Amino acid sequence: MSNEILVVVEHDRGEVTETSYQAFGLARTLLSAGVGTSITAVVIGAEADALAAGIGSYGAGLSVLVHHAELTDYAPEAWGDVVAQLIASRAPAAVVATGTDRGNEVLAHAAAIADLPFAANVTDVSLADGLGLTRVRWGGSLLEQSRLHAPVYVLSGSAHTFTGEPSGDAAATTEVFEPTLDASAARTRVVDRVTLAAGITLTTAAVVVSGGRGVGSADGFAPLTELADLLGGAVGCSRVVTNNGWRPHSDQVGQTGKRIAPELYIACGISGAIQHWVGMMASKHVLAINTDNEANMVGKAEYAVIGDLHKILPAVSDEIRRRRASA
Ligand SMILES: Cc1cc2nc3c(=O)[nH]c(=O)nc-3n(C[C@H](O)[C@H](O)[C@H](O)COP(=O)(O)OP(=O)(O)OC[C@H]3O[C@@H](n4cnc5c(N)ncnc54)[C@H](O)[C@@H]3O)c2cc1C
Repeated sequence: MSNEILVVVEHDRGEVTETSYQAFGLARTLLSAGVGTSITAVVIGAEADALAAGIGSYGAGLSVLVHHAELTDYAPEAWGDVVAQLIASRAPAAVVATGTDRGNEVLAHAAAIADLPFAANVTDVSLADGLGLTRVRWGGSLLEQSRLHAPVYVLSGSAHTFTGEPSGDAAATTEVFEPTLDASAARTRVVDRVTLAAGITLTTAAVVVSGGRGVGSADGFAPLTELADLLGGAVGCSRVVTNNGWRPHSDQVGQTGKRIAPELYIACGISGAIQHWVGMMASKHVLAINTDNEANMVGKAEYAVIGDLHKILPAVSDEIRRRRASA
């Protein structure tokens, strides 16, 4: 085993999100815990080569650029195969990614090919009798304590748990790795993209105005949309809302919807069931608007307004407009 920690850099045609960089936060946490002594970034697909040097500022001394004709776009099996080949050739101490859909998918393929256990959605690590792990299970409703015994630790970090900020300004050196892949490795590959929402999206918005059963109808979302527009935000919703056909599933927040981390989450007429909470619990601030002051969301939120959202939201929007007009 070498003392290297491999970080799989999730990117979309060379674009990396802050969430993806959080994998380096997990790698640095592993170093602090005594696992490995250096970080190596794995950058898959020549389209992402431009990322390589900048990755040094996240703690990687080396970026391995993976080049192959089949790696033209995201292909989970092929990416997993690449990572498994790097495990075989470099014998790292650990391999990590952020626990996004793609991060978990790639590491699951890699671990299966390499015949290694894979621990997903880790929130903390310690070195004692193998690797001590805390990880999120059951859609965020419990934290599991476990120990991992393996020749190589394959881990994803729970999204929004580890920092995705740079840790310095050093540049990484680079080397190229050419894996052995045949066309079947890339049989599932992204071939097209359809943009459902232009501009600000639910996952990138700094402010999300989200509605639940309390909104009452599809038309009832008008004041939520109005406030979201005024704040440059996006509209989200609970599963009851999508089940009722009031909003599309792409707007749903939660265990079976999107997981988001806006600066401000305004929960309107949402009770705060655990399956909803896990989708927005990483929000920096939460404001609940609810008629029931005993609702779970009210108890957990930093701020709450008790009352009818159909009266409160128009009043808030009017006040914002009034203040802007007099500013
Ligand atoms: C496997 C599984 C997966 C799930 N995945 C998800 C998921 O991804 N996302 C999700 O959201 N849910 C999910 N659920 C469903 C979840 O358990 C809850 O049923 C759901 O979140 C409740 O939605 P709600 O808060 O809109 O409705 P309710 O629980 O009915 O709450 C409505 C709230 O609105 C308030 N209210 C009513 N009228 C007004 C008014 N005029 N003004 C202000 N407040 C008002 C009420 O006081 C109440 O608190 C899942 C469930 C399961 C079993």
